[in-house]
Parts: sequence; structure tokens; C-alpha cells
Amino acid sequence: MNRRLPVKLRELSECFRTKSLDPFSVVEQCFALAEQRKDLNAFVRLSTSQARHQAKQSAQRYRDGKPLGALDGAPIAMKDNFCTKNVHTTCGSRMLENFVPTYSATVYERLECQGALLVGKTNMDQFGMGSGTVDSIFGPTKNCWSENLQKDEFRIAGGSSGGSAVAVASGICFAALGSDTGGSTRNPASYCGVVGFKSTYGLISRHGLIPLVNSMDVPGIITKNVDDCIVVFNAIAGPDDRDSTTIKVPFNAINVPKLDRISLKGLKVGIPIEYHCEGLSDEVLKAWTDVADMLEEAGAIVETVSLPYTSASIFVYSILNQCEISSNMARYDGIQYGHRSDEDSSTEQLYARSRAEGFNSVVKNRILAGNYFLLRNNYDKYFLKALKVRRLIANDFDQVFRKVDVLLTPTTLSAAPRYKDFTRSNNRDQCAVQDFCTQPANMGGIPALSVPIRLSEEQLPISLQLMGPNFSEQRLFEVAKWIEANVQFDKYC
Ligand code: GLN
Repeated sequence: MNRRLPVKLRELSECFRTKSLDPFSVVEQCFALAEQRKDLNAFVRLSTSQARHQAKQSAQRYRDGKPLGALDGAPIAMKDNFCTKNVHTTCGSRMLENFVPTYSATVYERLECQGALLVGKTNMDQFGMGSGTVDSIFGPTKNCWSENLQKDEFRIAGGSSGGSAVAVASGICFAALGSDTGGSTRNPASYCGVVGFKSTYGLISRHGLIPLVNSMDVPGIITKNVDDCIVVFNAIAGPDDRDSTTIKVPFNAINVPKLDRISLKGLKVGIPIEYHCEGLSDEVLKAWTDVADMLEEAGAIVETVSLPYTSASIFVYSILNQCEISSNMARYDGIQYGHRSDEDSSTEQLYARSRAEGFNSVVKNRILAGNYFLLRNNYDKYFLKALKVRRLIANDFDQVFRKVDVLLTPTTLSAAPRYKDFTRSNNRDQCAVQDFCTQPANMGGIPALSVPIRLSEEQLPISLQLMGPNFSEQRLFEVAKWIEANVQFDKYC
């Protein structure tokens, strides 16, 4: 019989320890729910045999009185762009539809070492290019908060890690990893009413995360609450010899803050005026000002600040994004990885046909644009210039963090749009709107977190984003936990 599962990872492992639950029956319950909620299309593939095997081992550790920690026996999901040994990893694309990696991403290895159980791989926009989870060969993911799941009436999950956000929001798993290049973890978290976090660049290994934009990609964490996010972060962060961009100093684990110990007295909170932008919905604006007032009442010093290069960010992002993509996608040639066309009358034909058949139009457009920006005659004009403006955007953050400790902004400009409205515009225009508040953090490499605040009139989640200087994760989590406790979004779940 299905029973209501605990909400938090620590409570779940406590139930395993006291034998009121066992990992095997919990994961079966997750699979039953995944089956029931197939209509959401959150998963590309369930990894039943893997999870059952892991559950048996976990149950044995609890029987032996030697559990590994809060993640032991916890059902989790991985976005389908993280390599998982012997489990298909498709990136939502035809190109990698039959790709089975021979190794696992470091983050998955670390979760496995902590006893987590892999429920499955989640749906995404092809190769992470998107902000809706509407561009996958497996079809769109539907937001579990949708009032109507029929035809094209449903609400988008956000993207590109929409499958991971829906997997957590619908209760199929306790935590899921996404990837965050321009907001792909925080955007769907915002639309689905869950916590979405990207760390300081380099704190979490990218080894085995199929690259989109190497200089911005960060594995992201999606959970139901802030405490769980810290548990997962502590499990996966830290140096990795297999990723030369990880920060070499040992990682200082985050302390799970006690609510009554969190003091906001004197905390300086910046409200960047540039985020008060065109298209911002009244309801998001209201949530933003209400939470700012709440923080002020609790003793924080809230002030308006300016990040003048914000408006340039989306253009710079799209140039750099496409340049790195054009180079990253070169590996898919029909020979080394992925889809291979039958049309192989010449090597050139084989390359061309395999790529033409394996990629969707979004991927092709970005490859073309990236190659254009990198042409000898264009390199200085676009690529180098974009790099310089990226530096100015990062400098904006450096300067503002001399004045304030954290920034409070919207994560998305509105609640989740309907699929039919969202898909009226093309991928580029969608991203320009969706990524507005999130991608500057990737340009600066700084940590950022989205926390759900309340429901809109239409009963859809509205969230806000916190950003802080590099390595300020401890403080970000404390402020987020304070907000979480005071807005009590969990009463809607
Ligand atoms: N929407 C952005 C893009 O398509 C974000 C991608 C991401 O964070 N993976 O580039």
C-alpha cells in the first residue's frame, strides 16, 4: 500500500534507520507514481533494474546499522545529459538516442557513493538548448501545476531541465540534478515550485556532463527544500582531477543552518533596478517587493543597486553560447559518437548527413551562428568583443558585492506560460525572455538560487532568485532558508 512519504531527505533516512520504511518499498512507490504520472513526460527513461539493485544494497546497509548518510536509499533523478554508466544518455536528441556511456559523470558517481538510488533520466531540451523543455525528441514535459494537461493547453515545465524539476515537484523523487548554463536549473525550478540552485563555477565537477558551453556550465540541484539542496551539494561538490576547471582547494561543507540561529540583522540586500524590466508581471513584482519588505522588517538593510551592463548580457550570452556550441558539437560526426547516417557515399557525406539527421533546427542554427561569429573576419567584432563585455558584466557583480551581501531578483518574469503561447515564439526569442534574470549569474560565475514564494492567482508557482559573490553559498542558503520558512510555500504542496 502506498503511504505518504516524508518530505525531507533527513526524515527519509531516519525512517529507514528506525525501520518504519525501507528503501526497496520507497523506490517501488516512486516507480508506481512515475507510471501514474506518465502524462507529465518528466522521464526519458526509468532505470528500474539499477535502482532496485541499489535499493537492495542500501537496505542491507541499514540492516547492518551502517548507513552512509542522509542520501542513503534516497530516490533521485538525473537530467539526461549526465553520463550514467550502462544507462542510455540521450540529451533529448536523435543524435544520442542510442548512446550508452561506458562511464559515469563525477556527480552521479558521488551520489551513488552516498547511497542514492537512480530512478531515471529526465527529459530536456536537446543538448540543453532551450528554456521550456519543449524541444526534445521525446516530446515536451508538462508542468505538474497545469490546470489542464490536454493538447497544447498545459503549462510548460521551464527548461532546459524541466524533466528534473517536474520529477521533484510531482514527488517522484527527492532530488534531481539539472545543468545550468544560462538558468536551466533555476528557470524550471521557478515554474514548478521547487528549489533550484547553481553553485559558484568550478565548485562542482562537469566531468561526464555533456558540454553545452564549457565556460558557463554548472551541474544544478533541484530539491523540494533548502536543507535537501545543501545535503546534495555537500555530496557532489569539491575538486575533481578529471575536470581541470574545478577549484583545487578542498571544499568546505555547508552547515545546515538552524532556523532560529539565522539572523538577518545588518544583512545588506541589493535590489537591482535593471531587473525591474519590460515584461515583468505584476504578481512577480508584488512577490519581489513583499519579500524585500519582509527581509527589511527582520533587520536586513535593503537598498536599490545598479548593474548597468545587464541589458547587454543577453546578447553577449547568445554570442558566446553559440561560439562554444559550434565547437562542442563538432564531436558529433557520425563516426565517434551517436547517430550515423546510412548515406555514406563519402566521408563528407557521412558527416553532413549524420549531423543533418541527428540535430534539430535549434542546434543547427546555433552551430551556424557560432561558426559565423568565429570567422576570421568576425572574430574580433563578435567573439572578442563579447568576451570583453562579459568581463564588464562580471565587474558589475564585483562592484555591487562591495556594497551588498546578496541580490534579490525575480527568477522568471511571470508564472509558467501555456505551451501554446510559449511556442508561438522561436527558441531565440523564448530564451531572451526566459533567461533575462538568470544568465548574468552564469556570465559572472557566481552562485544563485531560486526559491518558491507563493502561488499566482491562477495557482501557479512564483519564485525569486538570490545571488551572491563567489563562494557565498553558506550565506545564500541561510537567507533562502529564512525566506522559505517565512513564506511557507510548502502549504500549497
Ligand atoms: N536557455 C538557455 C539556452 O538555451 C539556457 C540553457 C541552459 O542553461 N542549459 O542557452
